[in-house]
Amino acid sequence: MTLSYDLHSHSTASDGTLSPAALVERAHANGVNVLALTDHDVTTGLDEARTTADALGLTLVPGIEISVTWKDQTVHILGLHIDPANEALQNGLTQLRKFRDWRAEEIGRGLEQHGIPDAYLGAKKYAHGSIVSRTHFARFLVEHGHAADLPQVFKRFLVRGRPGYVAGDWAALEDAVGWIRAAGGEAVIAHPGRYKLTATHRRSLFSEFKECGGVAIEVISGSHSQDEYGTMANYARQFGFLASVGSDYHGPTNPWMELGKLPELTKMCTPIWAHWADNKGGSVIN
Ligand code: AMP
Ligand code: MN
Ligand code: MN
Ligand code: MN
Repeated sequence: MTLSYDLHSHSTASDGTLSPAALVERAHANGVNVLALTDHDVTTGLDEARTTADALGLTLVPGIEISVTWKDQTVHILGLHIDPANEALQNGLTQLRKFRDWRAEEIGRGLEQHGIPDAYLGAKKYAHGSIVSRTHFARFLVEHGHAADLPQVFKRFLVRGRPGYVAGDWAALEDAVGWIRAAGGEAVIAHPGRYKLTATHRRSLFSEFKECGGVAIEVISGSHSQDEYGTMANYARQFGFLASVGSDYHGPTNPWMELGKLPELTKMCTPIWAHWADNKGGSVIN
C-alpha cells in the first residue's frame, strides 16, 4: 500500500485554526497516514496530537517550523522527528518566542499609529494563549474590515514597508539546524519556492544549509506552483537533498490546500521517508 504523507501542518499551538486533536482527526479522515505537526517556534501541540494519532492509528511525526533570518530574509526550517524534550532546542525556541512577543507589541504600536487601535489585544485573542503570529493580526484586521482576506491584509499591512511590519532577527540558519540536529531531528527547508531570492542566492542558501547538516527541501508544498514542483525536484537532485512533501495546512478557512490532497512526488527524487523505519514515521534509521 502507498502511504499518504503530509510533513508540514499547523495547529492552534501556533497559527493554525484547528486544535492538535482536530487537525489529526481531519488528516486521518482525509486519508493521510503519516502527519508531521510543525508549529511555528513551539512544540506544545505535540502531546495532544500524539494521543489522538495513537487512538486513530495515524503515524505522527513530531516536528517544528523554526523562523530563521538569512541574508535579511525570513526563511523557515522544518525539523522532523525532533525530541521536544531536548534542552538545546527548547532554549533556542524560548529565545525566538521572546523576540516574537516583543515584535507583536511593536506591530500593535505600528498599527495604532496608522489609526487602528487595539490590534495587539485583538491578535492575542486569536492566539488563544499561544504564540502571536502575523496570521493572528491578519485575522483581527479582516474581522474589523481592513481587508477582504488574508493575502490582501498581508500585502497592505504586514509585509516590509507596511505599517504592521517590524524588522528584526530570527534565528541564524546554522543555529536552527543545530538545534534540530541536537534534538535528533532532520532539517528541511520549508517551501523554498516562496522566498524572493535570485537564483544565485537560492543556490547559496541550499549550499549553506547543506554545510550546516540540512538533509532535505520541500519539493511538494501547498504554496508551490506546478512549475515549482519541477524546479525544486531538480534542485534536490543537484544538491543531493532528500525531498519532503507538506501541505502547510493552517485550517479549513486558510487559502492554502486541504489535507490529503498533495500530489505524488516525482520518482526522480528520494523521499525523506525512504530511510525511516518501515518507511513510516516511527524513527530515523541512520
Ligand atoms: P510570522 O511567523 O508571525 O511572521 O507569520 C508568518 C505566517 O504568516 C506564515 O507562517 C503564514 O502562515 C502567514 N502568511 C505569510 N504570508 C501570508 C500571505 N500572503 N497570506 C496568508 N498568510 C500568510
Ligand atoms: Mn503560519
Ligand atoms: Mn512557513
Ligand atoms: Mn508552515
